[in-house]
Amino acid sequence: MDNYLTVNVVTPNGLVYEHHAAIVVAKTLDGEIGILPRHAPIIVPLTIDEVRIKRVDADAHIDWIAVNGGVMEVRENIVSIIADSAERERDIDVPRAERAKQRAEKMIQEAKQNDDIDELSRATVALHRAINRINVSKHT
Ligand code: ATP
Repeated sequence: MDNYLTVNVVTPNGLVYEHHAAIVVAKTLDGEIGILPRHAPIIVPLTIDEVRIKRVDADAHIDWIAVNGGVMEVRENIVSIIADSAERERDIDVPRAERAKQRAEKMIQEAKQNDDIDELSRATVALHRAINRINVSKHT
């Protein structure tokens, strides 16, 4: 079959998502990329951002996934996303993400006061993860 994609999202916890899709849109370090069937083979690093997947079944419903970086490989109409963590919109615990956001904001303030560059960079990444989850949760 060459008129649809098979999309897998895998994390250390296992397979988070597997569906057939008409298009996948993800954010790479070089910007947004849209993958259609018969796309040339690629491997690209992803940023902490949302991945949009338009299903071929389910009335072309759009699924949203909060992806925590990782890589996307496209080969023979199979799109494989491998990331440290990834959650579908419906699986996101919003209060947890809000708490993580507040914690990260506090850590950023403290790291700035202490001139702690490493802590500032860790907290900034944690803040991005939390904001990404909150944004994706709003797509339900
Ligand atoms: P927290 O501080 O809340 O643990 P975190 O960004 O440090 O957030 P991660 O290390 O990225 O968390 O993820 C650890 C595990 O918890 C992963 O399996 C991830 O999918 C899951 N996870 C983290 N935050 C959420 C959330 N808000 N809703 C659902 N699952 C989450």
